[in-house]
Amino acid sequence: MNEWIDREAKVVAQTYGRYPVVFVEGEGTTLIDDAGKRYTDFLAGIAVCNLGHAHPKVAEAVANQAKILCHVSNLFYTRPQIELAEWLTSHCFADRLFLCNSGAEANEAAIKLARKYFYDKGEARHRILTMGRSFHGRTMATLSATGQDKIKEGFTPLLPGFEHVAFDDLGALEAALDETVCAVLVEPIQGEGGVCVPEAGYLEAVRALCDRFGALLIFDEVQTGMGRTGKLFAHQHTAITPDIMTLAKALGNGLPIGAMLATDKVMAAFSKGAHGSTFGGTPLVTAAALAVVRTFDAEKIVEKGAEMGVYFRSALEALKAKHTLVKDVRGVGLLLGMEIDADGAEVVKKCLARGQVINAVQGNTLRFVPPLIITEAEIDALIVVLDAIFSEI
Ligand SMILES: *Cc1c(COP(=O)(O)O)cnc(C)c1O
Repeated sequence: MNEWIDREAKVVAQTYGRYPVVFVEGEGTTLIDDAGKRYTDFLAGIAVCNLGHAHPKVAEAVANQAKILCHVSNLFYTRPQIELAEWLTSHCFADRLFLCNSGAEANEAAIKLARKYFYDKGEARHRILTMGRSFHGRTMATLSATGQDKIKEGFTPLLPGFEHVAFDDLGALEAALDETVCAVLVEPIQGEGGVCVPEAGYLEAVRALCDRFGALLIFDEVQTGMGRTGKLFAHQHTAITPDIMTLAKALGNGLPIGAMLATDKVMAAFSKGAHGSTFGGTPLVTAAALAVVRTFDAEKIVEKGAEMGVYFRSALEALKAKHTLVKDVRGVGLLLGMEIDADGAEVVKKCLARGQVINAVQGNTLRFVPPLIITEAEIDALIVVLDAIFSEI
């Protein structure tokens, strides 16, 4: 047994079911454990390290900024925060953003903003509709928004005002909508819910329903954002835009940063004193995120990820044709899922033994969310490993 695993068991809250590997280093798509074993990373810290590990541009930005100024509070202006806000708002529908430290915090901010928007208008709307099997975070409000019972168990009373309707079911959404709904919160593709892609036209129809009832549309792009699906933001596969969008995961390539973006009209409800964060948008994390987005531009990361997504998906489809154990292949870009007729965790462990890092969601769906810089050769090597494992089971 690894001594670090024994030590962790004594002093860290046991909230995570961890795989028995202690990682000490990473470079690009490679991770190295404490025995020196090398792995190819098809998880990227759960869709976080989209540029791969230890990216030199991000490392340089963090090191330089750490030597100059890490934090001064939001009582003052800082340059990287403003530059990051300019980059993000010039690449999507939004006019303004609020910076925070995680996906859950970004969704908290979105929920608060939606409620405040109607409060300011003098309208008594507070209901928020979210989707079955959705995932929006672990704080009390985002837990209340999340459409998965197992995550909520033991934490009642939850925050009132949240109702769930089935994902990808327009009839259910229409039936739940009326003039008391302030917002509909939806992931353009469900990540934790099992890599579930809605029918073509669904997001457009959700937009139209929100407009009909005067409700705000919030896209949780915490997992689907930052090039993950082959566009910078997943909703950019469609012609519609939300009123509010949340980001986190890959925005800092591993540094903790979240963002809640909105139109001018809606963000006006976040007037002085309405919301805040000590750490939100510090010079350190925003300098890192700026290096991330500038690297996206310089190295055409989104376009490359989109190409690899097409290649990866067809390789997974070929495996499906070969093994009856594979029930379904889903996903867009490099947010891919493979539903299998077997225990996902077992396959994950077998992959780890063979130097491949993947994970499983909803018990039986293997999820592949590698750095967007993954190569065809690396995908081929994973496919050989999966092929062997599926033949074994
Ligand atoms: C990961 C995730 C979150 C929560 O992000 P944290 O940074 O863990 O709080 C919220 N929404 C979606 C869609 C996610 O994938």
